[in-house]
Amino acid sequence: MELRRINVFLVLFINRVFISLQSKEQVLLDMKASGSELGWLTLPYENGWEIVQTVVNGSLFYTYSVCSVDSTEQDNWLRTTFIQRRPGTTRVSVELRFIVRDCNTFDGASVACKETFNLFMSEADADVGTNFRKGQFRKVATIAPDEVTQGRVLKVNTETRSIGSLSRKGFYLAFQDMGACVALLSVRVYYKTCPSTVQSLAAFPETVADALKEVGGACVENAASPAAPRIYCTAEGEWVVPVGQCQCRAGYESTGDACQACKPGYFKPSVSSDSCQLCPENTKPSPARATQCQCEDGFFRSPSDPPTSACSAAPGAPRDLTSTTLQAEGSLQLSWRPPLVTGGRSDLTYSVACQLCDGPACAPCADRVRFEPGAADLREPTVTVAELDSHLNYTFTVEARSGVSQFGTGPSTAAITTALDYRDPPKVTLIHLDDRSPTSLALSWSLSRRPPARVSQRYELMYRRKDADGERDVTTYTVLILDKSSVQISDLSPDTTYVFRVQALGPEGNPGSYSAEHEFHTTLIAEPLTQNNSTAVMGAVIGLAVVLLVVVAVLLLRKRRLSSRGRGSEDPYFSTDQLKPLKTYIDPHMYEDPNTAIQKFVTEIDPNAVSKHKVIGVGEFGEVFRGVMKVPGRGEAAVAIKTLKLGYSEKQRQDFLSEASIMGQFSHPNIIRLEGVVTKFKHAMIVTEYMENGALDTYLKDRDGDIPTYQLVGMLRGIAAGMKYLSDMSYVHRDLAARNVLVNSNLECKVSDFGLSRVLEDDAEGTYTTRGGKIPIRWTAPEAIAYRKFTSASDVWSFGIVMWEVMAFGERPYWDMSNHEVMKAINEGFRLPAPMDCPSAIYQLMLQCWLNDRAKRPRFSDIVNILDKLLQSPESLKAIADFDPRVSIRLPSTSGCDGTMFRSVPEWLESIRMSQYKDSFARAGVTSMEQVLALRHEDIRNIGVRLPGHMKRIAYSILGLKDETSSLSVFAV
Ligand code: AMP
Repeated sequence: MELRRINVFLVLFINRVFISLQSKEQVLLDMKASGSELGWLTLPYENGWEIVQTVVNGSLFYTYSVCSVDSTEQDNWLRTTFIQRRPGTTRVSVELRFIVRDCNTFDGASVACKETFNLFMSEADADVGTNFRKGQFRKVATIAPDEVTQGRVLKVNTETRSIGSLSRKGFYLAFQDMGACVALLSVRVYYKTCPSTVQSLAAFPETVADALKEVGGACVENAASPAAPRIYCTAEGEWVVPVGQCQCRAGYESTGDACQACKPGYFKPSVSSDSCQLCPENTKPSPARATQCQCEDGFFRSPSDPPTSACSAAPGAPRDLTSTTLQAEGSLQLSWRPPLVTGGRSDLTYSVACQLCDGPACAPCADRVRFEPGAADLREPTVTVAELDSHLNYTFTVEARSGVSQFGTGPSTAAITTALDYRDPPKVTLIHLDDRSPTSLALSWSLSRRPPARVSQRYELMYRRKDADGERDVTTYTVLILDKSSVQISDLSPDTTYVFRVQALGPEGNPGSYSAEHEFHTTLIAEPLTQNNSTAVMGAVIGLAVVLLVVVAVLLLRKRRLSSRGRGSEDPYFSTDQLKPLKTYIDPHMYEDPNTAIQKFVTEIDPNAVSKHKVIGVGEFGEVFRGVMKVPGRGEAAVAIKTLKLGYSEKQRQDFLSEASIMGQFSHPNIIRLEGVVTKFKHAMIVTEYMENGALDTYLKDRDGDIPTYQLVGMLRGIAAGMKYLSDMSYVHRDLAARNVLVNSNLECKVSDFGLSRVLEDDAEGTYTTRGGKIPIRWTAPEAIAYRKFTSASDVWSFGIVMWEVMAFGERPYWDMSNHEVMKAINEGFRLPAPMDCPSAIYQLMLQCWLNDRAKRPRFSDIVNILDKLLQSPESLKAIADFDPRVSIRLPSTSGCDGTMFRSVPEWLESIRMSQYKDSFARAGVTSMEQVLALRHEDIRNIGVRLPGHMKRIAYSILGLKDETSSLSVFAV
C-alpha cells in the first residue's frame, strides 16, 4: 500500500519536479572488452557456434556466429563463463547486439532456416567449468531481430532483457541456435546503481537499483536533522524524493552540500538553514564559528531578549523632575524628561515612590496616597499624586527602568522633595463655640486643609453685634488678626447674639475667602462672683431663682401653645418654636483637643480592674471581648470590652475614643451604658455593660418564629424609648438598624454604635453615594440619601425599617434587591410589605415612619406612646396585616427566579430558610414538589413541623407556589 502510494508519487515527481541523478551501470560481463579470451563453451564442440574475427572501422573484435541454415534439427549452444553476482543485486540486464541474415537471401534455402535464437540462463553457487548441462538452463527469451540483413549492409539489432531474481553466487548465460544465420557482436551483462550522493546536506551511499527502495542517509559534518534523512532509489537507478532535511548547526552555514563555519564577525544562533548574520550593534567582534556575539562592555541583553538582538545600555536617571500643585485638593503633578541615555530600548518605563524624610531617616508615605495612572510601569514621563497632606514635605523618587536595568551601575533615579504649594490660603469651613459666658465667647474654627508645616497660619476674624433688621443703617465690625485658630472674645454684652466670620490669610497677608457668617449668643446669667462678695452671690442666687421661675413659666406656656397648634410647623425637629431639651448632646468635635471631651464625659478605669475573657465580636478598631470589671462596692460586673488594635494612628485612637465620649453623655435604660475607658495605657479600651444576647438581628434570626408578637412589640417599644431619649438630646444616630441594637438576658434592647466615623467606615452596609459619603441605603430615609438631610425624622424612617426587621425575625430588608433597585422602588412609592403575622397596627406604624414628607412622620415620642397603647391592650395586636407569601418569603418569585418550579424539596426549603426540616421531609417520603403541593396542614404537622411560625412559613410558601402570578404590586401603598 505504502509502496503503491510512493510509486504514484514518484511518477508525478520524476516527471515534473524532481531533478533525478543519472544512474550508473556496473558491468559484470562485456564480450567486446574481453578480446579473444572469452573461453565460452560451444556445443556440439567445434560445431555450430564459432568465434570469428572481424575488423570494424579499423579495429579488430570478435564475434560468435553460426549459420547452419541448410540442415534441419540444428541445436547449437554457446555458453558464457561463470558470471559472479554482486551481493545486493537480484536482477541484471543483458544487452545483446547481433545480426540475423534474412533466410530469403539463401538460394533455395531450406525450410529449416530460422531468423531467431534463444537466450537461456542457469544459476550456480560455483564455477562448474566445462561441465555444461543443457538441462540445467531455463529459457529467458526468444531473441528476434527488428531488421534482418539482406545484402551487404549489415543491420545490427540491439535487444536488452532483464534477468531476475537472482539469489545464488553467480550464473551462466547460454544462446541456443536452431538454424539461423546469426552473428553475436556483443553481449553485455550489467546492473544499475543509484550513485552515492549528497542531497540537502545529507549523504546517501551508492545503492543497487533493482526495485524502488528507501535508503537512509546521514547528515554531512556539522549538520543535523531532527529525523534521519531518507531518499528513494528507483529501479532505473535514479534518486527521487528526499525526505527530512539536514541543516547546518549553530555557528555554521550551508554551501550547498556542506556546512562551513561562520566567518569572524558573523554568527548563527541555532540549527537552521539561515546564513550567518553580521554581529548586531554594541557587540564585540566574534571569532569564527560564533553562535552569538557577546555584548560590548557596558551593554547588556535582558533575559527575555533574543540572542540575535542588539545589546543595550541601562537607562540613566530621569531629568528635570518638577512638581506642580494641582487645583484638586491634596494633589500635585510630577513631570520629568526621559534620561539622556535611554539605552535604545522600547521597554523604558518609570516608577515613582513617595517618602516622608526627616534628615536621612525616611518612611513610606501613608497608604492612602494615590498615583494616577499608577506608581509603576509608567510609559509617559508624568504622574499625578493625590491624597497628600498640605502641611507635609514629601520626597518623590522617580526611577527609569528597562529590561536591562538590573545590570546598570550608574544612577537611574531622580528625587525631589516638595510640598503642596497653594497660592490661596485654606478656607475656614466651620466656626465652633467652645465656651461662653455673659460677657465672652470662646470660638475655634476648622480649615478645608491643614496649613503647611512650619508656617504660622494667620487669620482675620470679624464680628459684630447682631441687631434687629433695619435697626441700624451702618454695620460696624470689629476686626482681629490672630495667629491661631481659636480666640476668646471678652467684653461682650450678656444675652446678645454676635455674628462672626473668619478668613485665613496667605503668607504675604493675601486674604482667602470668608467663612459663612456664624451667630453665637452670650449667656444671660452672670457667673458667680468672687467668694468675698457674698452679698452679690446671694443677690445672684435670688436673681437666678427668679429667672428660672420665669423660664419655666415661659416654657410651660409655649408647650401648651405648641400642642394646641398640632404639628403644623415645617420641620418639627428643628423649628425654632420647639422646646429645646434642658440637656443637649455635645459633639466631641466641638473641642479642639478631643481628649478634652473624653475627660469631660468619661470615667477613666484602672486597667487592673478589667479582665478580658473571650472574644465576642470584631469592631472597626479591634476585637470586642466579654469580661468582668471590679466595681467598688458592687463586686464584679459582666462587661463588654472594646479594644483598639495595636499599631493605630493618633487619629484612629481619637475616633475610637470618640464613641466613648458620645456614649458617656447618655444615660437611659435603652441606650448602651458606658462603664468607662482606659486611655492612659498603651491598650486603649472602652468598657460597656455586657449584653448577653448580642446583636438584635442575629438574635432574631436564630429564633425565627419562636418569639411571641407581644414580646417583639415590647422590644420595639424599648428601642423607640432609647431613640426618643437620643432625639431629645438632639443626637441624630444615622445608623439605626437591628445590627446596632444589643439585647441583654432580660431581652431588653439597647441602642448602640455611636462612633463618629461609624457610618463612614465601620458599617458593612455603608455604601458610597454619588455625593461621596457612605450611607446604609436600606435603612436610610430618601432625603438623607439625596441631600444628606440627617435628622431625628430620618432616624424615624430607620426605626420603621428596624420594626420590619424585628417583625420579620431578622430578614434582610428588601431581600436580595440591589441598593439601586431599593432607591428606585422607594422613589416610585413602593414600600416593604407586611412581614408574616405582623399586627396590622404595627405595619401601619411602619408605613407612617416611611412617609416621604419627613414632617408628617411620627416623632419618637409619638411612637413610644402608640406602642405603649398597643401593649396595654394586647387585643389591638390581634388584627394581622395582609401578607402575601409570594413577595414576603422570597423575591422576586416564590418559585425559581425565572418562574420555573424548584427542582427539589431541599432547594425549596432552603429558599424559605427552613432547611432544618430537609431530613424530616425526606423521612416522611416527601421528595418531589408535586407531593409538596398536595400537603395539608396536618400533613405538615405530622412531618414534624411544630413551631407555629415555621408551620405558617411553610404553609404560606405552598400557597404561593400554587399561585404563580407573583408581582411586586403589594409594595404599593
Ligand atoms: P461594634 O464594634 O459595636 O459593632 O461591636 C461588634 C460586635 O461585638 C457586635 O456586633 C456584638 O456582637 C458585640 N458586642 C459589642 N458590644 C457588646 C456588648 N455590650 N455586649 C455584648 N456584645 C457586644
